[in-house]
Amino acid sequence: MRYISTRGQAPVLSFEEAMMTGLARDGGLYVPETVPTLTADQIADMAGQSYEDIAFTVMRPFIGDTFTDDEFRALIKAAYAGFGHDARAPLVQLAPNHFLLELFHGPTLAFKDFAMQLIGQMFQASLKRSGKRITIVGATSGDTGSAAIEAFRGLSNVDVFILFPHGRVSEVQRRQMTTPAESNVHALAVDGDFDDCQARLKDMFNDFTFRDEVGLAGVNSINWGRVLAQVVYYFSSAVSLGAPHRKVSFTVPTGNFGDIFAGYIAKRMGLPVDRLVVATNQNDILDRTLKTGLQKKEGVTPSISPSMDIQVSSNFERALFDAYSRDGAVVGQLMDDLKDKGEFTVSQGAIDWLRDQFDSGRASESETLSTIADQVTRTGEVLCPHSAVGVKVAEHHLGPVPMVTLATAHPAKFPDAVEKASGIRPPLPQRMADLYDRPERVTRVANDLAALESLIRDRRAK
Ligand SMILES: *Cc1c(COP(=O)(O)O)cnc(C)c1O
Repeated sequence: MRYISTRGQAPVLSFEEAMMTGLARDGGLYVPETVPTLTADQIADMAGQSYEDIAFTVMRPFIGDTFTDDEFRALIKAAYAGFGHDARAPLVQLAPNHFLLELFHGPTLAFKDFAMQLIGQMFQASLKRSGKRITIVGATSGDTGSAAIEAFRGLSNVDVFILFPHGRVSEVQRRQMTTPAESNVHALAVDGDFDDCQARLKDMFNDFTFRDEVGLAGVNSINWGRVLAQVVYYFSSAVSLGAPHRKVSFTVPTGNFGDIFAGYIAKRMGLPVDRLVVATNQNDILDRTLKTGLQKKEGVTPSISPSMDIQVSSNFERALFDAYSRDGAVVGQLMDDLKDKGEFTVSQGAIDWLRDQFDSGRASESETLSTIADQVTRTGEVLCPHSAVGVKVAEHHLGPVPMVTLATAHPAKFPDAVEKASGIRPPLPQRMADLYDRPERVTRVANDLAALESLIRDRRAK
């Protein structure tokens, strides 16, 4: 299996190389040259299997010879051993044809653990083999950072630096990043918003001298390994609801487009997915793009679902690549326009293709709050604000096909918003109940590339 860049100018890589590289050297994102498919029989066989067994079947065709079958099974097993639920990704029912996929039983209580825990295992195995040292730098709106730190803390060949927007993450998110005591963990509070953090990260990757000097590696949602790990729960949940004999639709609370893109890959692999619905909060650039064909940045307005507060949705580039029949030159031009002019227009052919693949909707702040309250009354389910955005949007897309809405975080990660909406202050699960008592360690830093690079050079172990 070979991986190519969405901008067509970077070297073709193996799975292992694409995973360790993150952003392609031409600024693009790696995608598999072809998407492997599973037969209806292979999908039918998943019924009743463990999450780990399904994960092996789904991901195996993508990893080439990076790991042997035994190695890969062991890595998958280790990745999900720390989850607080035996099913890993349990489904609960909200209404006759509406289901909630709980993706928040991992160590940091958000769906990002599914990918990050596996990436941690795969990085460790690969570095052990090569004897290399790397520096992982990630930008986060809150959940990626804590998931990355949890996955890499204490690993011997890795330093992990996480850039988060100062004052714009929830207290639980911040504490999950600032309380790990391991010396290879570095939490950096940047004076800026999430898009600033993500832009500085991209700048670092485009500074090839720095990139090679520190052995820069990325684990943001653009990392193909992360997208791949997220494909698995589309299969496990759809099979629970009758796939491949029955179609299933999904609604996905979306920011960087990584999670929903994984759903698109599941569909390409042969899973009978009917609709994929993009759900956004008031920062609705994706909903607007799909409705109008114009992608236009308009400053971020902080919301109660901060992990979706975004104007530059990195993984959308992967969808555009397919929408333009994999023409890397066109994709590169659109991305340059977005950077230089703050907008681009999708061609008629490409927008028709995108609308064929994705539906979309947005939920306002008040709709998000009322959805949390409403679900407590109707089902007893306490939703986090991101999941509530999903449920609200999904309610406009219910029909004869079962709808699965992805619950992307545990409500205890966002207790203020949940309490405001419902009067309930959700407690942290027992296993992390002492989070508020642990000492914090964080460095505040300017939104400035040179300052960040010199800090990383100084702090990393040599
Ligand atoms: C990251 C995140 C999202 C958005 O996921 P993308 O893959 O960036 O679209 C939604 N909800 C929560 C809780 C998240 O942490």
